[in-house]
Amino acid sequence: MSTRVELCNVDGRASLACEGRVIDIEARSGGNFSSDPMSVLGRWDDLCDWAQVQRPHESDALIDPARLGPCVPRPRQLFAIGLNYRDHANEAGLQIPEQPMVFTKFPSCLAGPRTTIALGSESVDFEIELVVVIGCKAHGVSEAHALEHVAGYCVGQDISDRKLQFASVPPQFSLAKSCPAYGPLGPTLVASRHVEPSAVALHCDVNGTRMQSGKSSDMIFPVPTIIEYLSRHCELFPGDVIFTGTPSGVGSMRKPRQYLKPGDLIRSEIPGLGVLENRCVAR
Ligand code: ZN
Repeated sequence: MSTRVELCNVDGRASLACEGRVIDIEARSGGNFSSDPMSVLGRWDDLCDWAQVQRPHESDALIDPARLGPCVPRPRQLFAIGLNYRDHANEAGLQIPEQPMVFTKFPSCLAGPRTTIALGSESVDFEIELVVVIGCKAHGVSEAHALEHVAGYCVGQDISDRKLQFASVPPQFSLAKSCPAYGPLGPTLVASRHVEPSAVALHCDVNGTRMQSGKSSDMIFPVPTIIEYLSRHCELFPGDVIFTGTPSGVGSMRKPRQYLKPGDLIRSEIPGLGVLENRCVAR
């Protein structure tokens, strides 16, 4: 039986999460693979072939989620898709897009699965999302071959300052979603062979109350369509990250509105991929 391949970032070092322990990739491979997660993502197929026959040793540390950084710490490009769920577009009172609505989160916003989020204002919102990580160069890729270019999947939170987002017309998505720690990612990157991206559930709880509950089969533009569209226009590189949009239930669309407050705990789960738990604090 081969091991399920999950890449994680332990104190900045590329590691495998396996049977509750972490295997340091550079050390276990005798230096064949780098300790840098981005470098490992650049040799993803080789890494998967090697990783699937690894087993943890008793001396390998137990997984400590608090020590995990973002499983993809420095993507060359970080794409995000707005209004990709019909119920979220409807709750926002916005038209269903006819093409994917693309923006960026600046990569300095990426954070680990337990990182604390310092709230920059009183209008900060949560958005659970399925995140896709690219595994090899992709340009002009068809929908039929799109998923062959995916390294894996993880859970993401697209933390968003709504007042900043809608401070001017047209809105400025990227800046409002890029403060430090506004992009928690993880807990691990689960290799694509273990995941059917059109069939995952997404749940976001704040302080134990279910706020968002969706399924990726409701995406307006499914993952292969997003990759086809992005790669038609941009070159995609190993380690590039794509946030694929959020289902309904975000705080800004609730009556009354429910923005994040210091002390709040955001729990974001995609069964099969894992859980992010991020505590909010005052900046
Ligand atoms: Zn989003």
